[in-house]
This record gives sequence, structure tokens and C-alpha cells, in this order.
Amino acid sequence: MHKQSTLSREEQIIHNIQTIRGRMQDACLRAGRHPDQVRLLLAVKTVAPEIIKIAIEAGEKLIGENKVQEFAEKYEALKNVVCERHFIGHLQTNKVKEAIRYASCIQSVDRIALAEKLHKRLLFEQRQMDVLIEVNTSLEPGKSGIAPGEVFDLLKSIKPLETLRIKGFMTIGLFDADAEKVRPCFTKLRETRDEAILRGLVPDDAQELSMGMSGDLETAIEEGATIIRVGSAIFGKRVTATDHHRQYAEAQGAAQL
Ligand SMILES: *Cc1c(COP(=O)(O)O)cnc(C)c1O
Repeated sequence: MHKQSTLSREEQIIHNIQTIRGRMQDACLRAGRHPDQVRLLLAVKTVAPEIIKIAIEAGEKLIGENKVQEFAEKYEALKNVVCERHFIGHLQTNKVKEAIRYASCIQSVDRIALAEKLHKRLLFEQRQMDVLIEVNTSLEPGKSGIAPGEVFDLLKSIKPLETLRIKGFMTIGLFDADAEKVRPCFTKLRETRDEAILRGLVPDDAQELSMGMSGDLETAIEEGATIIRVGSAIFGKRVTATDHHRQYAEAQGAAQL
């Protein structure tokens, strides 16, 4: 008897990870890069800790959060599993203290006020922190990230802040289903990194390029990505806050909430 197999949530997530891993592997081989040179970061915004745990137990070791609030909530729930946590969202200066409590890298440093606030707090705590500089390579207004034309000035200002270990660069890139249209964003980030190293504005080991998502990871790998960030292609479509609230209300049987 052939019964249509339905995967459990756990099997589905593991299957999705294998698919993404396979694509990354193929892309690395085609680009002549070693698969170890590219890490997969799981973008886990709105994903429940027990679901994230499935992915970590399947061997994934790098997760990224967008909101300090979620970071804090999940930290407790995930304290028994080993993983590296990066902050990948827009970081408000008044949330710096909490963000650095949970993150080992802040990928979204995009302005001097934020860098200075981080530095001040890290000095106080006598610690250092890995950071990436987020660049708005698509030049879309309203998007976080420093404009490519301003990045070297920003780096000059950040350079003296010795608590910040600049490890490389991050970009979100153009939102377009056509990966070829996104490619110039990835090229720009790579060129920015190479130029920054050449000018001595960042250390020679500031090689990280966090770029590429599920739709364009092959292109990103061709352009030199070292970290790919994937969320919904692994965990499924995100439940919005409104949906979440409704489902919660329904689960509580509170129809008028
Ligand atoms: C959510 C997010 C991703 C992943 O996006 P998906 O569409 O869920 O794959 C990557 N980078 C950042 C900064 C994100 O916030």
C-alpha cells in the first residue's frame, strides 16, 4: 500500500535543513570553494525555542536573532544546548546592554552612535565583542545599514574603539526574486571588504561576508559569502504577531480578546 507520507514537524525541519545544506554544498563545489568556508545561520525570529532546538540537535550551531526581547526569552529556554548566537536585527542604542549579554557577535553595526554605545558598555564590562558592519548595498531608503559611500568614514571612527573586533561585513541586499538582480549587492559587499582591508581600516582577518538568503544563496556563495542567513525556508512561513495573538486567544478560549 502506498500511503502519502506526511512528515512530522521535526522531520520537515530536518529535511529543509538538508535541502539548504545540499544547495550550499553544490554552490561551493561550483564556485571552487570548500564547504567549510560557508556557515549557515538560522534566522529564528518568531520561532519557538522547542523548534529551534530540533535544528540545533540536528547539528546546526549558529542562530541569529532580530529582537533583543526574543533573544532574552529564548536564552533561558535554550541554555542546555550549545550554539553560537548572533544579533542580526536593527539594534537600538538603549538595548545594547541586553544584546551583548546574549550575543557573541553583533552583525548589524551601522552607525557611530551604536558603535560608541557598544564600546562604552564593553569597556565597563571589560570585554570585547565581535561585530560586522552592516551595509545598505541596495541603497533602498529606510533600510538599515550604512550607505556604501559612507562606510570608510564610519570605519575610521570605529577603528579606535578597541573593544570592537571587526570581523567583516553584512548586508540584506535587494528584495527581489531574481538572484541576478541581487548579485550587485553581494559584489559591492565583497569589494567593500577588500577595500577596507587594503586601506588598513579593518584587520586582515575581517573576512566575514554575511549575505544571501534562501532565494539567492548560490549567488551569494559565488560572490564570496561566508555566512548565509536562512529562516522561513527551514522553519516555514512566519506567524505574524497578529496571527500569533489570535491563535493564543483561541487556545485560551478567550473569544473576545
Ligand atoms: C529574517 C531574516 C533573514 C532570513 O529571512 P527568511 O526569509 O526567513 O529566510 C535573514 N537576514 C535577516 C537580517 C533577517 O532578519
